[in-house]
Amino acid sequence: MRTHHITRGDTAHHHPHVLRVNTGTWRWQCDCGGASCRSSVVQLSWREAVIGALNHATCLAA
Ligand SMILES: [Zn+2]
Repeated sequence: MRTHHITRGDTAHHHPHVLRVNTGTWRWQCDCGGASCRSSVVQLSWREAVIGALNHATCLAA
């Protein structure tokens, strides 16, 4: 009987990249299509972009 192993935290499939768009403005983007574009109006600091990327990778359990 084969055990259906559900990988908890699908972080292996999410590798968000933090990109600098302008001086002092950063955003993150993921290969899955996830990105901080939705809040493009808001200028993210590098730290905020990194946090957003981490949140994307860790919070996307579904
Ligand atoms: Zn992703």
